[in-house]
Amino acid sequence: MINWSLLIGNSNLEVLSRLKESEKNIVKKLLMDVSLTDITKLAHWYVSTPTYTTVRINTFKTTVEHVIEVIKLQLCKQSVDHGVNDIPSVKQDSLLKDCIVIGCWDVNRKLLQPLNKKQNEVIIDIPCGVSVLRGANVFAPGVMAMSPSVKEGDFVTVYADVSKKCLKGFLKYYDDPYKKYIGLGIAKMTRKSLFEINRQQIGIAVEMKETVSGVPSFTLPPELGLLQNYPSILCSHVLNPQSEDLILDMCAAPGNKTTHIASLMKGKGQIIALDKTEKKIERIKENCKNQHLNNVSAYVFDATKAFDGNCITERGRVKAPPYNENTFDRILLDAPCSALGQRPQLSQSLSFKQADSFPLLQKRLFKAAVKLLKPNGTLVFSTCTLLVTENESMVSWVLNEFLDLQLVPAEPIVGGPGNKNCGLTEEQCHLVQKFGPSYCNSSFPHQSDTVGFFIAKFKKIKSR
Ligand code: SAM
Repeated sequence: MINWSLLIGNSNLEVLSRLKESEKNIVKKLLMDVSLTDITKLAHWYVSTPTYTTVRINTFKTTVEHVIEVIKLQLCKQSVDHGVNDIPSVKQDSLLKDCIVIGCWDVNRKLLQPLNKKQNEVIIDIPCGVSVLRGANVFAPGVMAMSPSVKEGDFVTVYADVSKKCLKGFLKYYDDPYKKYIGLGIAKMTRKSLFEINRQQIGIAVEMKETVSGVPSFTLPPELGLLQNYPSILCSHVLNPQSEDLILDMCAAPGNKTTHIASLMKGKGQIIALDKTEKKIERIKENCKNQHLNNVSAYVFDATKAFDGNCITERGRVKAPPYNENTFDRILLDAPCSALGQRPQLSQSLSFKQADSFPLLQKRLFKAAVKLLKPNGTLVFSTCTLLVTENESMVSWVLNEFLDLQLVPAEPIVGGPGNKNCGLTEEQCHLVQKFGPSYCNSSFPHQSDTVGFFIAKFKKIKSR
C-alpha cells in the first residue's frame, strides 16, 4: 500500500528503493503517463484536496442565483462560528452556466492543531477521511474507533487510519504514527451508541468544525443540485444532449451524469441508464426521483451485451434492453476504470494486475456502444484515471478498430491535451482533454485544480 504523504520530500531513488516491486511499477507508470519526473510532485498532487468545490445545479428545477444565495447563507452562519468576517467565494463558472464554484476557508488563519487530549479522539476509515477533507461530516459507518470518555457535544480530534490497522470499535488509544490528522469536530454520538451490537450505523457521528483542507461544508436539498467534480460536469456538456434525443448512459450508477443529462434535456426526450449492479440501479432511480426527473429509464444490465435485441417501443418510449443496432442518438460511456485520478488519496493499493484488467472491459463496452449508436450519432468516452492504457491508447485502439468512428473535438475544451507517443497524432491529442497533475490553468484555477479525468468524443460516420 502506497502512503503518498511518506513519499513527499524524498528523492526518486530513495522512494523507489523503499517501495515494493508492485508499488514501484504503479508509481513509475503514473509518472510516465502524466509526463512528470518528480515523485514528490505526483505525491503532493494526490495528498492535496482540490481547493475548489463545484456544485452542479439542477437547472430544470431551480436557478443558479437561488442556489448561490442558499450556499452563501449557510457560509455566513458558519463564519460567526469561525470568528471571521469573510466567507469563501461562491460564483457561477464563467463557462459552464449550471456550475457553481466555491472557494476554501483560509486554512492559515486558524490554529488547526489536534486537541492535546488523547481521550478525545475519533478514528475514521480512509473513504470517510477523503469525504471529510472534501467538506462532509463524519457519518457513523466511517467511524473505526472513538475514545470511551467522549460525550455528545464534546470537541473531538478526527484522524484517518491510513495504515488500515485500526479494528472496528477499538477500545484503547490508537497509537499509530501514520494516522492522519483531518480536523476538529463536535461529537454527535457516543462510543456506546456507535458500536452497540445489532444497532444500525446511521447518521452524523461528528459534525466537523475545521478541517486541514479548509473545504467548506454545506447541504443542499437534492432537487436543487449536487456536488460534482468539474470534469464530470463538463463531460455531460461535451455530450451536448438535445431535448428530443434518445440517449444511452451505459455505465450510469450512481447516476450523477444521468441526472445532469436529464436536467439539460429539460425533462424531455429519453435516457436509458444501465448498470450491471442491481443495488446501484436503485440509487439512480432514487436520484432521479429526488431531482424530479421523469425522462430516465434505469435497468440492471451488462452493457457489453446491450445490443442484438428486439427492443419494444411503447408510446414513443423504448423499453428494457437489449436494443437494436443504430438505436441511440447519443451514448455516454463513462467507463469503469482504475480511478487513479481520485483526489485526495490518503493511500493507494491498486495492483498493476488490477489496473491492467480495465482496458479489456472498456474495449467490450466500446464494441457494444458502436453497434448501438445511430449513424451521425455522438459517443462520449470518459474515465477518472491518469493511465494512458485506459485513455489515449484506448482512443487509438478505437480509431483503428472502428473505421466508422471519427474523433471530433471534445468541446468545450477546458483540460490539457492527451499524451503524445501513446498512439495519437499531435492533432488528435488536442481533440481530447485530460485533467491531471501536469495540467495547470492559472486564469481559472478551479478548472485544473481538480481530479484526474479524460474525455474523448466520437461521431459515427456511415463509411470512410
Ligand atoms: N457515470 C456514473 C456517474 O457519473 O454517476 C459513474 C460510473 S462509474 C465510473 C462506472 C460504473 O460502471 C459502475 O457503477 C459499475 O457498476 C458500472 N459497470 C461496470 N461494468 C459494467 C457493465 N459491464 N455494464 C454496465 N455497467 C457496468
